[in-house]
Amino acid sequence: MSRFLSRHGAKLEPYVPGEQPVERRYIKLNTNECPYPPAPGVARLLAEQKAREFSLYPDPEAKALRQAIAERYGLRSDEVFVGNGSDEVLAFIHMAFFDPGDSVYFPDPSYGFYGVYAKLFHLNPHPVPLAEDFTVTVEDYLGVDGHILIANPNAPTGLALGREQVERIVQSNPDHLVIIDEAYVDFAGDGVTSLPLLDRFDNLMVVGTFSKSRSLAGLRLGYAFSRRQHIAALERMKYSFHPYNVNRFTQQAAAIAVRDESHLRQVVGKIIATRERCYRRLQELGCKVLPSSTNFLFVSHPVLKGREFYEKLREKGILVRCFDHPRTLDYIRVSIGTDEDMDAFLGAVEETL
Ligand code: PMP
Repeated sequence: MSRFLSRHGAKLEPYVPGEQPVERRYIKLNTNECPYPPAPGVARLLAEQKAREFSLYPDPEAKALRQAIAERYGLRSDEVFVGNGSDEVLAFIHMAFFDPGDSVYFPDPSYGFYGVYAKLFHLNPHPVPLAEDFTVTVEDYLGVDGHILIANPNAPTGLALGREQVERIVQSNPDHLVIIDEAYVDFAGDGVTSLPLLDRFDNLMVVGTFSKSRSLAGLRLGYAFSRRQHIAALERMKYSFHPYNVNRFTQQAAAIAVRDESHLRQVVGKIIATRERCYRRLQELGCKVLPSSTNFLFVSHPVLKGREFYEKLREKGILVRCFDHPRTLDYIRVSIGTDEDMDAFLGAVEETL
């Protein structure tokens, strides 16, 4: 380690991303990417792209993209913030709204970055254990003395709170910001997104990503929706840190993707159908599987520990995710691939068991 690393840097516990192997071709079911290509207009854009335009900086306001997203979600463009993936959006949220020493409440286990950011931004983290059945207990978040950050649906469990449950949390914390990370919400069906609550609550912020249902993980585009004064606060941070955070190509590609509603519906429909088929088959094979509102399944087996399960599948050319968290040692998380990918996965599971 560098002898110049700051004391703060030395105390961090960085996030460990899922493997992105280059040397061997795996069936990759480990990072919840979409197995289908993005909206066809994105490929056309790529073919027509003029490389010479890349010598110019992107629009720091991302006006056209924010307008396109706002139209799709029934908002005004000053109620939309965009960032280099929702990870960056979450970082800007921390910078804009949380002071060192502030308490932040988030479910445990959940998306690993919440704890990482709590350390990075000198916060006082309150990981709130999930219930025995892995659901988020709403009562744990009513009238707390800090900010709240909840992935809904949650990862790695795949379980979702209904909108009324989120509403109770938002309503009972009027003086704290409640951030709902909806990375997987497109796979959750109706009644989950908190978007309709934005009209009524000024302490709510909804975060989303184009990395999952819109197949653009490699281009990095995330967003936040909230009241315009909160979006202006995020912009203030952006202009204090990285004004050109969303590159030229991503701004154009994401605007095309967000307008292609029929492609989104098709992709989401296929993934949900594949997910439900795998859910049933894994149960037939003796696995315990949580009902999923996402593009992944959270799976355990009575005799195989998560890491063993992961290793057996890896030997067979299939990458899934396992965990070090004590609550999830028995589990693997399996992203939903194409039907062909999942047949290979189910075959490998059957062989392993
Ligand atoms: N939130 C959750 C709950 C996630 O699982 C992920 C993806 N790993 C992200 C945010 C970040 O996604 P991205 O930065 O690709 O938008």
